[in-house]
Amino acid sequence: MLKNKCALVTGSTSGIGLGIAKSLAAQGCNIILNGFGDTKQIEEIRENLSKEFSIRAHYNGADMSKPEQIRQMIHEAEEIFGGVDILVNNAGIQFVSAIDQFPEEKWDSILAINLSSNFHTTKAVLPKMKKKNWGRIINLASVHGMVASPFKSAYVAAKHGVLGLTKATALELVEFNITCNAICPGYVLTPLVEGQIDQQAKAHNLPREKVISDVILASQPKKSFVEVEQLGALTVFLCSDSASSLTGATLPVDGAWTAR
Ligand code: NAD
Repeated sequence: MLKNKCALVTGSTSGIGLGIAKSLAAQGCNIILNGFGDTKQIEEIRENLSKEFSIRAHYNGADMSKPEQIRQMIHEAEEIFGGVDILVNNAGIQFVSAIDQFPEEKWDSILAINLSSNFHTTKAVLPKMKKKNWGRIINLASVHGMVASPFKSAYVAAKHGVLGLTKATALELVEFNITCNAICPGYVLTPLVEGQIDQQAKAHNLPREKVISDVILASQPKKSFVEVEQLGALTVFLCSDSASSLTGATLPVDGAWTAR
């Protein structure tokens, strides 16, 4: 049922977003990739996705902190694919620091990329989704949308905001057959987390394995990373007809982190 739908996955040149783009492409969706990185590598990702799954893949490098670039990207999606049917708001960054040391420009960019971009993309895709009377919006929040950790004030604030936006969006759109849900992963081993492992290893002078078991996975009772493919499979389910009544939900995929 997803064949030939157009899926835009923000921040899909790496990590979770790339995994979700692959899972949707495997269902026959045409994909709009977005995110930063080496031009040649991104073109390889685009070409491989297109060949492996016999779909059309397009790349747009819009900066998610720039509303005008977001609007242009959605406009381009409408020109090429006739509109975005599935929107996955995934682009995100992290910065770890005590509040009294937290650089103001980092606060602003985390709020812009991790929260406000979800509003701008959603606003821009809705006119076409409403016309089609079908749509799926999936926001990649985090366990940090449900609970906090110290030194991640901007990230925690942004992800809590994403859950609020998800609920409001779901309520507004039920009559249009458009669902909106938030996936809240625990730790997934991606470049975003690799950065935190390196930082902690340096700060505490600990070997990588010790940082993973004693620091990173300390709050995740399952003691293993969530797999990108698991998030891809959940996204595919949320896009299916079986999930048409599943909307406004906060869905933890966190090895029981938030069960305590
Ligand atoms: P990642 O660093 O591997 O990927 C982030 C992606 O976002 C990349 O494609 C990057 O180019 C893109 N990006 C960054 N800034 C951008 C901008 N201004 N404009 C456009 N694209 C931009 O990170 P990830 O771990 O795959 O994280 C993806 C999402 O999942 C984020 O929202 C993150 O908060 C969330 N998340 C991650 C974890 C985890 O453990 N990795 C856990 C919970 C939630």
